[in-house]
Amino acid sequence: MCRYCETEWLFNLLACPWCDNEDHRSLAFLQIEDTPGYALHVCEQCRGYLKVVDEKNGGFCQMPAVEITTIYLDILARQQGYYNDAANI
Ligand SMILES: [Zn+2]
Repeated sequence: MCRYCETEWLFNLLACPWCDNEDHRSLAFLQIEDTPGYALHVCEQCRGYLKVVDEKNGGFCQMPAVEITTIYLDILARQQGYYNDAANI
């Protein structure tokens, strides 16, 4: 979902939206134990990350508030050396 216009579209779950990497060996999901329903998808090829809200597992995605309520995911990703250009805006 676009954080600005809330447009939704389908995207391959096993691909990086930043570099189009589809090699599953360099893609990972980081689940946060204390917050089921929220995760990070990371790419070892470009070191990009994407915050993921899984509403089927307790995540709640209401824009734009979700950007603030999930800022801990941005901090965690950056601490581990991943980057997301959208988070720099
Ligand atoms: Zn990538």
